[in-house]
Amino acid sequence: MKRVYNFSAGPAVLPEEVLKEAAAEMLDYRGTGMSVMEMSHRSKTFAGIIQTAEQDLRDLLAIPDNYKVLFLQGGASTQFAMIPMNLMRRKKADYIITGQWAKKAWQEAQKYGKANVAASSEDKTFSYIPDLSNLAISEDADYVYICENNTIYGTKFKTLPDTKGKPLVADVSSCFLSEPVDVTKYGILYGGAQKNIGPAGVTIVIIREDLITEEVLPGTPTMLRYKTHADAGSLYNTPPAYGIYICGKVFRWLKNLGGLEEMKKRNEEKAKILYDYLDSSSLFHGTVKKKDRSLMNVPFVTGDKDLDARFIQEAEASGLVNLKGHRSVGGMRASIYNAMPREGVETLVDFMKKYEKEILNV
Ligand SMILES: *Cc1c(COP(=O)(O)O)cnc(C)c1O
Repeated sequence: MKRVYNFSAGPAVLPEEVLKEAAAEMLDYRGTGMSVMEMSHRSKTFAGIIQTAEQDLRDLLAIPDNYKVLFLQGGASTQFAMIPMNLMRRKKADYIITGQWAKKAWQEAQKYGKANVAASSEDKTFSYIPDLSNLAISEDADYVYICENNTIYGTKFKTLPDTKGKPLVADVSSCFLSEPVDVTKYGILYGGAQKNIGPAGVTIVIIREDLITEEVLPGTPTMLRYKTHADAGSLYNTPPAYGIYICGKVFRWLKNLGGLEEMKKRNEEKAKILYDYLDSSSLFHGTVKKKDRSLMNVPFVTGDKDLDARFIQEAEASGLVNLKGHRSVGGMRASIYNAMPREGVETLVDFMKKYEKEILNV
């Protein structure tokens, strides 16, 4: 067996310990004689799995009691509709557009009410986070929306916008559990699991209880109401059971390694290795404003399409895979999520140094 260093933006690398544990439990989960995949979601065993997963997530993020944790399906993209359907009571919301995912969420919200652009960085290919010091927040906005870490462009909000008391809704798909956050600053934080937590198919929504009401937009399907899932403990219908089980193992892995403070420290160390090299390289350079750099997604280019393509190909042959940048940016992107070991980043930087030497003949 040979594992590669997988720099995919998502679905992405998972901790090897978690995969090994899941493999060992595949045929007979703890004496039940069956796999978690084959188990009733109403069984006592699965109740234990989902309750433990939720409690571990609550411990990791210090989630206050007045927030619900929901394990849903439909990906982050379904939330783009679910958020306005459930929250747009005055039919107005403000969006900060920092990339393609925020833009898609904003476009979807326009189907349900007035979605204003409070700020945008589209003028420079989303390579920075807009100035948040004098945001025009609508007086009657139902919420303010951000995408906290921009997976495609490699930027991250280092401070949260002042929403003037409106609930802040944040897509944290690609920075979920990468560092501690103050949950009380958000009305909703949510994300697809497949970036930094677990398998595709699970969407985690952490929502303040006062935002869960019956007053949804007319015609909102039962399955797209937060209340349906909150009232049923995420078991209104069949949840993505196996995915939740793997997410639970990742939560436990994070707890065992010391929680999110420790994870943040490791993530900062890993990102520094790559950014320091990018800042010193004569061949490669980063594409975003330094102060807005993401710890998770690191886009970079040589400035020459052919050299980029050759780099990606040679890296792949050396076991460094999925380094191709998103089609809207080009170049390369290394996603260095929680589960990417430090050695993976060091190996990548060594490989980049070798390539630079070869190309520049120094
Ligand atoms: C990947 C991604 C999405 C889309 O997620 P799906 O689960 O495929 O719908 C949305 N937002 C961000 C920040 C992402 O990285």
